Amino acid sequence: MVNWQGNHLYLGEYFWVSVMKQNNIRKKYDKIACKISSLTQQLCELREECPHENITYKYFGSNGNYDTSANSYGIDWHCFDCDKRFTTLQDINELRKYPNARKIDT
Ligand SMILES: [Zn+2]
Repeated sequence: MVNWQGNHLYLGEYFWVSVMKQNNIRKKYDKIACKISSLTQQLCELREECPHENITYKYFGSNGNYDTSANSYGIDWHCFDCDKRFTTLQDINELRKYPNARKIDT
């Protein structure tokens, strides 16, 4: 005989199982995970439409590697409006995209 006691299922004198409680946690978890997914999507869209006007950049380089093909050079960018961080090649055309960008050294 199935005997529910609040959130617990009574299966015998020493066997209480908190089935409902686990289900509620799972439901809450799914709801939160769904919201995070939706908000992450909204953040991605916001970053796509951001003109990155409040942006900084710094050069980075790695040379002197024994295998010279491992050498790499680039620019690290960080937009303080949308918090997007990305890396591009060291290319004057990249710098022209963000004329108000501030160069930082460290
Ligand atoms: Zn931005």
